[in-house]
Parts: sequence; structure tokens; C-alpha cells
Amino acid sequence: MREYTLQTHSYEETEQFGENFSKLVQAGDVVLLNGDLGVGKTTFTRGLARGLGIKKNVKSPTFTLIREYKDGRLPLYHMDAYRLESSPDEDLGFDEYFQGNGVTVVEWPQFIKDEVPDDHISVNIKRQNEDDRQISIKLYGSSYENRNFGEVL
Ligand code: ADP
Ligand code: MG
Repeated sequence: MREYTLQTHSYEETEQFGENFSKLVQAGDVVLLNGDLGVGKTTFTRGLARGLGIKKNVKSPTFTLIREYKDGRLPLYHMDAYRLESSPDEDLGFDEYFQGNGVTVVEWPQFIKDEVPDDHISVNIKRQNEDDRQISIKLYGSSYENRNFGEVL
């Protein structure tokens, strides 16, 4: 497992971090976004989408659970598992996304733990105060062995 850490000091910096991160993502990548409500998970995803060349406005998929964006360099599948806390066995066909041709980003991944592939990237965002965030990125599995995020962050 490899780990990178950084800090951001504004919404814009977290969005820029997402855009930088997008430069190294590949088809089949699974990115878990851990952190409390309002910490910046959707903000990161907006930057990632922008970096992939997606023009559509990224909206939180809280009610739809999954939103798909297909107008960028790679398809982006944006999931929010928050509502599955109360029905963790609901099968939404996660594997189709995880093994698909796009990048899957999951907010509240703890609620679909059993569905998540062993190979994944975990992004943990912690709120330090109003505008400061501590971010750590952990790469799990051989899929990410040759990915040097240190170069782009
Ligand atoms: P989540 O998806 O984790 O619930 P959002 O990305 O929707 O969070 O919202 C993050 C909120 O925090 C926004 O209102 C944003 O303006 C604010 N914010 C303040 N500082 C930061 C920062 N450094 N990074 C990300 N968001 C920040
Ligand atoms: Mg969100």
C-alpha cells in the first residue's frame, strides 16, 4: 500500500486536487471517498470530472445513488451509498460499474463494504476547520503499483 498526503485550504483547491488526480486515472479504477458530510467529497468529484473533460455539471447522486457521465476521456460513475445504510443488501449491480470501462467514485463506501473490490484507491478527507482539509490517498492492490500520484499532486 502506498500513501500520499496533502492539505487544501479552499473549495477551489480541493477541486483542483480532483483535476490533478484525474491525470492518472484509468478505466476500471475504483476511488472510495471517505469523510463526513460537507467535507468535500462531491467537490473532489467535480474536479475529477473537469479533468476528464466532462462538461456536464456534477450533482450529488444522493437520491439517484448513481450518476453516469460519458462525455469525457473516460466514463465517470459517481455513486453515493449513503441511503444504503438501511438496506445494505440491495444489489444495484455494482460489479458492472467496478469492472466497467470507466472510473467509479463512491461517496459513503462504508455502506457497501462487501461490494468493493480489493484493488482500490481510498481518499480520506478530514475537516480541520472551516476551510482546511487534510487529505490522504491510499493505493491498494497491484492495479495501482505503477501509478505515481506524487507526480501530479
Ligand atoms: P460532501 O460531498 O463531502 O458532503 P461537498 O463537496 O458537497 O461535501 O461540500 C463541501 C463544502 O465544504 C462546500 O460547501 C465547500 O464550499 C466547503 N469547503 C470549505 N473548504 C473546503 C475545502 N478545503 N475543500 C472542499 N470543500 C470545502
Ligand atoms: Mg457529497
